[in-house]
Amino acid sequence: MSEKQRDTKLVTAGRRKEWTHGIVNPPVYRASTCLFDTYAEMRERVKDPSARHLFYGRKGTPTQWALEDAITELEDGEGTMLFPSGVAAVNAAILACVKTGDHILITDSAYDPTRSFANGFLKKMGVTAEFYDPSLGTNIEGLIKDNTAMILVESPGSLTFEVQDLPAISEVAKRHKILIVCDNTWGTPLYYPALELGADISVHACTKYIGGHSDVMLGSATANARMFKRLRQTAYSLGQTVSADDASLALRGLRTLGVRLKQHEESTLEIAKWLQDQPLVHEVRHPALTGSQGHDIWRRDFTGSTGLFSIVLKHGDYPDTAHMVDEMKYFKMGFSWGGYESLILPSDPASVRTARKWQAPGPLLRVHIGLENISDLKADLAAGLQRYSDNVAP
Ligand SMILES: *Cc1c(COP(=O)(O)O)cnc(C)c1O
Repeated sequence: MSEKQRDTKLVTAGRRKEWTHGIVNPPVYRASTCLFDTYAEMRERVKDPSARHLFYGRKGTPTQWALEDAITELEDGEGTMLFPSGVAAVNAAILACVKTGDHILITDSAYDPTRSFANGFLKKMGVTAEFYDPSLGTNIEGLIKDNTAMILVESPGSLTFEVQDLPAISEVAKRHKILIVCDNTWGTPLYYPALELGADISVHACTKYIGGHSDVMLGSATANARMFKRLRQTAYSLGQTVSADDASLALRGLRTLGVRLKQHEESTLEIAKWLQDQPLVHEVRHPALTGSQGHDIWRRDFTGSTGLFSIVLKHGDYPDTAHMVDEMKYFKMGFSWGGYESLILPSDPASVRTARKWQAPGPLLRVHIGLENISDLKADLAAGLQRYSDNVAP
């Protein structure tokens, strides 16, 4: 997809006159019961779930359908299901691929709740998860067993931002008839064509950049033709549904995703490079920086970079980070990310790594660069690093 096509699609995708009646945005259709006047009408409306006939609120209204269609078009998939959170979307996508007795592979850099779901719920239903080093590429073949059913890729990974070779992993997976779910939250539908690169299902925590304003919890899963019916059936079976109000907020966020990301990218690259030169900073982990893990793959497969990355400090420990973060003006601590506000979060990968031990000379802080003025953000970070230096002995 060219740059121009993407920008245009962001504006037009999912808009259908029969749903909007000529206005720009679909109305917020709040609905549970839909009324049918005749027996024949009721039969007709429930016949085909893909037909987008109003028949019961749980199956959506034009508000949710417009968002589903917009994401489907941007992801170039067969169809999209919406979920009340990113976690719900990841977990439903996995459930669509597995059955009792299966073995699955999950990147060691996966979002922590994905790991917990595998070690708890999936284990209880008789699915065995094995965590793999995100740098494996085609060598993932060595971990494949007769009963391996799915690989969960997250690229770049949470906290540590290693980029994975999805085309290489997909080549192996296709040979062994294994499905791939990709948590594509960092790359967004604009910067990472996960389905084109070999994933069967591409998942977004729309809570992050798609919503973009820190006011909605929502997830999406977009599947290719091979997997869409199974994904939809799984979502229906689990009773997953999202409110029209939330879908409307996410759709509004989606329309400005392109311009927001451009600014996030520009500010982030400037600040990340500046951070590399700070004496207290051991390492800046951002896929777009030369020398970062998987940078060459990022250049080959991504069309842009976003605002979330991490820094590793040269010395000290996690409790010491209080000296840095407690008095920050703009970088507040908060879970989630992808809104217009900057965030900073000390977070230790050691507790959530099993394939390869996490080793670093000092604490890691995850940083999100928002849309504030760059000079203000740099000054805030500089003062924080100075407080750390003043209080924490090397
Ligand atoms: C935040 C996040 C999720 C979960 O999204 P929620 O909407 O918070 O449930 C999943 N994957 C990644 C990579 C995330 O950053």
